Amino acid sequence: MTDQAGCLACDLTAGRQQLPGGRIHMGSHLVVEHCVGPLGLGSLIVKPLRHVTSVAELSDGEATELGPLLRLASEIAGELTGAEQVYNCLWSHAGGEPVHIHYLVQPVTREQMERHGCYGPSLQVAMFTAGTLPSHEAIREMAERASRLFARRLDR
Ligand SMILES: [Zn+2]
Repeated sequence: MTDQAGCLACDLTAGRQQLPGGRIHMGSHLVVEHCVGPLGLGSLIVKPLRHVTSVAELSDGEATELGPLLRLASEIAGELTGAEQVYNCLWSHAGGEPVHIHYLVQPVTREQMERHGCYGPSLQVAMFTAGTLPSHEAIREMAERASRLFARRLDR
């Protein structure tokens, strides 16, 4: 199944749910969007367009596109925010059930670590607990910058 209504990842891509910042990059098999969760401005999501719930089920085309796109998204997320480290994470469980896989590409700044007093998974928990979402305006501006960087890098 390529698109599943009721799946948040599919709904965001298909426009059934509001996606702040809109689509940042559309690949052949994968798409890049700004994260809708409270993980900070410049956090990107890299996910297959197809509804897939495990990495093991990725097609050859999806798997081939994934590595270079994660690298590029990480480079761009770092450049957008000045972060000294960019996490790449894949949990993709909702309510303890496998859901549409989506890689989180999260730029982490020194300021975020100091504000929450931690890093790594603890920082992600702290950010979810704080629940602070960037404004749609800030996301839109970040997404536009990200989109231009993707277009420029992939044009070379
Ligand atoms: Zn889906």
